[in-house]
Amino acid sequence: MARHVEIDVDECVGCEACVEVCPGVFAMGPGDIAQVINPEGGTEEEINEAIEICPANCISWED
Ligand code: SF4
Repeated sequence: MARHVEIDVDECVGCEACVEVCPGVFAMGPGDIAQVINPEGGTEEEINEAIEICPANCISWED
């Protein structure tokens, strides 16, 4: 599998920033925790922006 974006849900603080910058990939799920709804729903640039903006540093590329 190619590298893909993941959220460490234990660290997510539910700020919704990732959803705002990249709504095709991220959405808020149960418990106001973000989840990846479609790993291919956004551009690499959008995902990188979400990684940078996340205050909990819990979004990352994984192999
Ligand atoms: S930006 Fe980070 S902390 Fe905020 S909702 Fe998304 S994954 Fe959670």
